[in-house]
Amino acid sequence: MTDVTRLSAAELADALAAGEVSSVEATQAHLDRIAAVDGDVHAFLHVSADDALATARDVDARRAAGEQLHALAGVPVAVKDVVVTKGMPTTAGSKILEGWVPPYDATLVERLRAAGLPILGKTNMDEFAMGSSTEHSAFGNTKNPWDLDRIPGGSGGGSAAAVAAFEAPLAIGTDTGGSIRQPGAVTGTVGVKPTYGGVSRYGLIAMASSLDQAGPVTRTVLDAALLHEVIGGHDPHDSTSIPEPLPALVEAARQGAGQDLSGVRVGVVRELTGEGYQPGVQARFDESLELLRGMGAEIVEVSCPSFEYALAAYYLIMPSEASSNLAKFDGMRFGLRVEPAEGPVTAERVMAATRGAGFGDEVKRRIILGTYALSAGYYDAYYGSAQKVRTLIQRDFAASFAQADVLVSPTAPTTAFRFGEKLDDPLAMYLNDVATIPANLAGVPGISVPNGLSDDKLPVGFQILAPAKADDRLYRVGAALEAALEKQWGGPLLAQAPELG
Ligand code: GLN
Repeated sequence: MTDVTRLSAAELADALAAGEVSSVEATQAHLDRIAAVDGDVHAFLHVSADDALATARDVDARRAAGEQLHALAGVPVAVKDVVVTKGMPTTAGSKILEGWVPPYDATLVERLRAAGLPILGKTNMDEFAMGSSTEHSAFGNTKNPWDLDRIPGGSGGGSAAAVAAFEAPLAIGTDTGGSIRQPGAVTGTVGVKPTYGGVSRYGLIAMASSLDQAGPVTRTVLDAALLHEVIGGHDPHDSTSIPEPLPALVEAARQGAGQDLSGVRVGVVRELTGEGYQPGVQARFDESLELLRGMGAEIVEVSCPSFEYALAAYYLIMPSEASSNLAKFDGMRFGLRVEPAEGPVTAERVMAATRGAGFGDEVKRRIILGTYALSAGYYDAYYGSAQKVRTLIQRDFAASFAQADVLVSPTAPTTAFRFGEKLDDPLAMYLNDVATIPANLAGVPGISVPNGLSDDKLPVGFQILAPAKADDRLYRVGAALEAALEKQWGGPLLAQAPELG
């Protein structure tokens, strides 16, 4: 049979069910691929070969015994290193957690294991998920498989690169302001940020608890729906988890693949197009709108005036929450402990020395910003104002969703940039998420679907947003667009990526 690492997760699942390949063979093929290309790509911080193969053997044995298995049983997955995994190192990309091995699994990891997905390892990321390029990882850069001199997006660059480089058919990311969708856009992969509360946050190392959401990173829209159904749904361990069942996501993806969008109103967000978007990004976006129209969708323009302030509000709310969430990394509880070079060894001085040595510059920048924004005398002016803007953004979404079933925009304003290009300019780095952040502030779901190549021959993403709890719409419209685009390209976009190794 063909190289199993090139199959989509759905195709691999079919091959496993048909007995054409075993899970041990499929898992080993991905481990071999990692061994062959990850020296260049550096998507993984930790490869858990023994753990993955043990799961694969177990699934193969249960299948041989005639047991009814989950549709994705035996299909390997990679997990972003911000998600805790029992017995497997978890660093969140930070020196401060180096060597820490969690004593429990996140709920989503429990669900992956229960469904029989072998876990290949943990993927690289910006430290504590702060960044848009993975250059803020304490453990080195992940490279974009399309061009090894360029960033794979962030913070979840490792998960996106692993999937784009055929090291894993599926991966888990987390998205606080765009960290699933923007890496998806710049690597030519699919990334979904579910509705806030749609996937349990239990066992995610929190950056900003009111914004964080875990979701699928895949090569096809159907694969994302399949993975989303494994990890999603109510969890009593997370008080913000949505109690109702998930909508029928896989069914919506299959329906969308039929390419009939009659009756679907697609709203183009005026504030998320035009100026500031690279011409090739804008051109691919406009072409895809025509494809949607051709499938029967009605295209309308909507306006969300408060989105102009989304980035500013995010960079007050997110650091405020992060400054509180990161207070627990004190040298006493987890990972690194550094004693002061001289003078007395008091608790306070150990904490200062540990945090000084263990956190990188971006993390320190945000802790200082957040602490300032929350401090007495400034709270109302900064954090309080940002929360008011957040309400206005939610109202803009509500008004727009009265006129359209989904909203669309380019996922990111540019294609992948070169290493170092934005590293010394935090504001330029922050601008990468200008189109993705509004969804996090409102808790609504979003998907990035590969949308072709820009003039620089690098991938571009098409973002689709839906109202809270209507994640199925992302999959219907996303699968329709994917099918129409692949017809033009003569296959998946990633088939056009250069060979690695
Ligand atoms: N790039 C954004 C930030 O730096 C988003 C990060 C994320 O979604 N985790 O905060």
